[in-house]
Amino acid sequence: MQNLRTWTRSPLAFIARRVLKAQRVAMVIGQTVHLSGATREQFLADAEWVAHEQVHLRQYKEFGLLPFLWKYLVESARVGYYQNKYEVEAREEARRVVLADPNHVLRPLPRHAQS
Ligand SMILES: [Zn+2]
Repeated sequence: MQNLRTWTRSPLAFIARRVLKAQRVAMVIGQTVHLSGATREQFLADAEWVAHEQVHLRQYKEFGLLPFLWKYLVESARVGYYQNKYEVEAREEARRVVLADPNHVLRPLPRHAQS
């Protein structure tokens, strides 16, 4: 994902990080992933995180910058961040990508949890 456009120490991501009281934030605006609290390398090393933001990049492409931003904000105001259908789609897709990756290391269950 070398061609993925990132903006580290983004002021917008910094504000979002403060509001969300999060350690690290990635926030897509248009076709750029704005980062705060994480370097580009840290972001790219996290396959699930990258896959999640790639869904948002695709959503922006599908709807266009302002229409998507508007839909996203309306949806967030209506049902909140977690239930926001664009977030649900990104979470589910990121999960699928990680589980489908043959290099993904699935931690074995602890002995006592195995049947
Ligand atoms: Zn998201």
